[in-house]
Amino acid sequence: MSNNKPMPVPTEISAPFWEGLKAQRLLIQQCNACEHWVFYPRRHCPQCLAHDLSWREVSGGATLYSFTVARIATLPDFADEMPQKLAVIELDEGVRINTTLVGLEEDQIRIGMRLKPVFAEVDAKGTRLLRFTGPDQDSSALQRYNGTPQAQMPEQGEAASVRLVAMDDDVALQSLVSETFSPWSNQIVIDQALIDAFAALSGDDYWIHTDPQRARKDSPFGGTIAHGALVQVLQSRLKLALGYEITGFSTMVNYGSDRLRFPAPVPAGSRVHARARVKQVARVKRGTQLTLEVNTHVVGSDRPSVINDLVILYM
Ligand SMILES: [Zn+2]
Repeated sequence: MSNNKPMPVPTEISAPFWEGLKAQRLLIQQCNACEHWVFYPRRHCPQCLAHDLSWREVSGGATLYSFTVARIATLPDFADEMPQKLAVIELDEGVRINTTLVGLEEDQIRIGMRLKPVFAEVDAKGTRLLRFTGPDQDSSALQRYNGTPQAQMPEQGEAASVRLVAMDDDVALQSLVSETFSPWSNQIVIDQALIDAFAALSGDDYWIHTDPQRARKDSPFGGTIAHGALVQVLQSRLKLALGYEITGFSTMVNYGSDRLRFPAPVPAGSRVHARARVKQVARVKRGTQLTLEVNTHVVGSDRPSVINDLVILYM
């Protein structure tokens, strides 16, 4: 899985900390003169100013000092992590570290609670970031990419009972028309690799989709975004929980779209899901024409990224 998120750049002074994380060990500095623990990595002891610090491994046992829940991504690249639990934790050695909490629901988080480290893998090169979770959580599961447990990313849409409606039953067909949307579908990740593949397929390799460095600098969205048409065609991978099934037809044809809009961008790395409602059903010469409004959203966003009034013809 690709990752466009800005990554830490180790310096000469901080490199042992990052190397430690790669080996799933937490190393922090301690002053040899006064035994004061030091974080972030420095050249001298902030307590006694001695230039005599050593790297020592610590357990990572900590308590929660403070936290906040971010619901709007600071950079579009982080949209897939929303809501993000930003925290300041205090290690048992007394130093405080800015981090994120993973594997905890908001109502499980309490200031002063015990925490343990999660050496979260964030790319294929083995880069790890230091995150924290509750003492009873499965930290090894949280260490896999993104710290996003599979449980938070359902592959299947919600199972719902399906109503069978005959294509010539006018009363039943009209009863499908509703202002209310279906439950959300399964979720899929639209990452840079997928966007690049679509750029190659479609020939649309405009930098706003394909050049993360330039997009971070020049794009109004702070990073690359998916092609609207890509998000639109990915509808086929989203299992809509419509709650009905039309029966009695011999062919079903995608007749196009009455309306297609891309109101909100989909930043690379976003998770999307969709929901739908039947907008209109009409009996036409050739059969039954059903207009399905399908809205695809970035997970957590109220504003749809794609609105598609799909026209389906049952013959
Ligand atoms: Zn000191």
